[in-house]
Amino acid sequence: MLLQEEIFSSEEFNKKYYYDGNDLGSIYTKEKTKFRVWAPTATEVSLNLYKEGSGNNLIEIVSMEQDVKGTWVAEVNKDLNGVYYTYLVTVEGKSNEAADIYGRTSGVNGKRTMVIDLLSTNPDSWQNDVKPPFVKMTDAVLYELHVRDMSMDKSSDIINKGKFLGIIEEGTTNSYGQKTGIDHIKELGITHLHLLPSFDFKTIDESKLEENKFNWGYDPQNYNIPEGSYSTDPTNGAVRVKEFKKMVQGLHKNGIRVVMDVVYNHTFTALDSDFNKTVPNYYYRTKNGIFTDASACGNETASERLMVRKMITDSLVYWATEYKVDGFRFDLMGIHDIETMNGIRKALDKVDPSIILYGEGWTGGDSPLPEHLRAVKSNTYLMPGIAAFSDDMRDAVKGHVFYEDEKGFVSGEKDLVESIKFGVVGAIAHDQIDYSKVKYSDRPWAKEPSQAVNYVSAHDNLTLWDKLNISTPESSYEDRVKMTKLSAAIVLTSQGIPFMQAGEEMLRSKPVDESRTKFDENSYVSPDSINSIKWDEKYSNISIFNYYKGLIAFRKAHPALRMESATDVQERIRFLNNVPAKTVAFTIDAKMKDETADSIIVIYNPNTVAKEFTLPSGRWTAYINEDFAGVTPLATVTNGKVYVAPISAMVLVKEQQVKMQMNKKAKLTALGVGAIASGILLGLLIKKRRR
Ligand code: CA
Repeated sequence: MLLQEEIFSSEEFNKKYYYDGNDLGSIYTKEKTKFRVWAPTATEVSLNLYKEGSGNNLIEIVSMEQDVKGTWVAEVNKDLNGVYYTYLVTVEGKSNEAADIYGRTSGVNGKRTMVIDLLSTNPDSWQNDVKPPFVKMTDAVLYELHVRDMSMDKSSDIINKGKFLGIIEEGTTNSYGQKTGIDHIKELGITHLHLLPSFDFKTIDESKLEENKFNWGYDPQNYNIPEGSYSTDPTNGAVRVKEFKKMVQGLHKNGIRVVMDVVYNHTFTALDSDFNKTVPNYYYRTKNGIFTDASACGNETASERLMVRKMITDSLVYWATEYKVDGFRFDLMGIHDIETMNGIRKALDKVDPSIILYGEGWTGGDSPLPEHLRAVKSNTYLMPGIAAFSDDMRDAVKGHVFYEDEKGFVSGEKDLVESIKFGVVGAIAHDQIDYSKVKYSDRPWAKEPSQAVNYVSAHDNLTLWDKLNISTPESSYEDRVKMTKLSAAIVLTSQGIPFMQAGEEMLRSKPVDESRTKFDENSYVSPDSINSIKWDEKYSNISIFNYYKGLIAFRKAHPALRMESATDVQERIRFLNNVPAKTVAFTIDAKMKDETADSIIVIYNPNTVAKEFTLPSGRWTAYINEDFAGVTPLATVTNGKVYVAPISAMVLVKEQQVKMQMNKKAKLTALGVGAIASGILLGLLIKKRRR
C-alpha cells in the first residue's frame, strides 16, 4: 500500500486532482461573489460568512458543492465586499475552520479572510503608476530594509512609525537637518528597495500594536495578504491592501523599485496551519508521515507537488500584478525545486520580464528533496534569470558569518585573493581564477554574472561594522572605516548584482548595551532600540555615506561594471599579474555601448601599507581612492605608477578618444601632466583639490 505522501506525489493523484484554473479563492463582483477552494480529501466543505475579522458575528453558513478536480464551489448573490469568511473543511470525520489560502486580505491576525473589491483599494492615479526605468538585472543596486527599521527611531522624523506609509514619507530629516527615510535612500541612489517579509506573518499580535513588538517576519501565515501590523488599521482588511499599494506607488514615484522577501519554504506552524486544515499533509514534505525540516523552523513546503507549485506561482504573479511589485527574494530558496523556480521565472516573464528574482541558495537543514533537484547555489546555472546570494564573496570580504573572530580580505586575512576574483567576475567561469582556492565553491556556479548577488552584510548575522569591530580588536577606528569603504568598493565594482543592508552606509551597529562591546547577531525578535536605524548617526558618518553614494554613482555611470553576458566578462576582465601580495587588480576593456571609458582599472589593497602599481600605458583618471568615490575626476596619471593607500580601493579610467578631447578642452589635464610617480603625492593632490 502506498503511503499518503507517495499518493500525493503520484502521477495518478495529479491527473485526478490537479486544478489549473485561475479562479481559486473569492472572485468578487458587485452582484455576486464566487468561491472555489481546492480540498480533494474533504468529504464536506462549507463557507462561513462573518461580519468582522474576529469575534462572534457569524452572518450565515453556506454549504459548498463538490466540483471538478477536488475543488468545492459556492456562489453568493449579494455584494460581499468587506465580508469576512472561512471554510469549514471536513476530512476523515474531523472538521477544521480555515482561512482561504487564496484569500486577498483578512481581519486582525489573519484568522478570517475577507472578500474585497480590489478596484476600490487602488490609490488615486494607480493606473498611471509608472515603474522606474530598469533594463537588466545587473543594473540593480539592492538595499535591504525592514519596514519598522526605517521609521521607529525618533531621529527618523517619520510620523507613520513602523508602517508601510512611513516608507514613503518625504521631506524628513534627522537632528542635523540631513535627509532620512525615502529621501535618504533616493539620495544614496539605489535602484531597488528590498523589504523584509511584508506579507502576513504570525507572531506579531495585530490586536496589541501598542506593545511595539518586533519580528523580522520569517513566520508566514497568509501569503497573499500584506502584514496587518504594518497597516494603520489591521482590523479593516481593506486598509492594509490600500496602504501597501500606496507604498509601492510612492516608491515608484521616487524612482525606486520594490522587492519583496518571500518565504514560501515553510509556515510558522504546520499542524494547525490553514494549509493543513484544508488538505492535511499535502503542502508539506514528510518522511514516513512526519514533517521534515529543511527550514529549521519545524516544517518545509513541498514545491514539487503541483498544487503547491501552483500556489507559490499564483501568489507571486498576484503580487506582481495587483501590487506592481518589481522583484522577489526567496528565503531558503534551496528548499524549492529547480523546476518550480524556472516555472516562476516563466510566469513572471509574462507579467514583466524586468522583475528580478534572487534567493538564498541553501537550506536550513536536510530535505527529502534530492540535492540535484534543489534550487541551491551550486545549481544556479540551471536557473536562467534567477540569482543566488554569493556567500563566497560575503565571507571572503569580511570573514565567516558564524565564526565572529575570523577575518576577511579587507581585515588582513591571507589567501583570499582567488575568492575575491571569483566575486569580481560574478561567480562565472574565468580562465584566470584558480577555483580550488575559492572559499566555498570549487567551480563557477553562475552561468551569467546576473546570477550572482554580491554583498557583505544582510539582516542575518552581525552588521558589517559590528563584524569588523569584533574581528579586528587590534585595529583602530580609522582602519575599520577604511575596511568598510574597501568592502563597499569591492561589492560595487564587481560584476553581478550588488546588495547592501540598510544603514551599512552609516556604519549601522546593533549593540546590545551601552558598552557597545557586544552586538546582536540574530536580532529577529530584538526590540526596535536595537534594530531601528539611528538616523543621527548619518552626521558623524557622512563621509562613509558619501563614499557609498559615490560608488553607486560611478557604477551607474559605467556599463562596463554591469556586464550582462559571461562571455563579455571573460573577454574584457583581465586580472593583473605581478601585483603586491594580498592585492587584487584588474582591467576592464570598456569599449561598449553607452560607455565613456576606453578601459577601467580597479585595484583593491587590503594591506596596512600603501602599495605601488604600474599602470598600463595611457592617461588614467582616478575617480575612486581611499577618501572619495564618484563621477568627478580626482587626478590624472600618464604612463606612470600609482600608490594605492593602505586598506583602500583605487579605480582609474582611461577615457575614450572623444571624451579625452572634451576633457582637454575643459582643461582637466592640469593635474596629470607627466608621470606622477608618487601615489602619496597623488593622494595629497586629490585632497587639496577637494577641500
Ligand atoms: Ca500578521
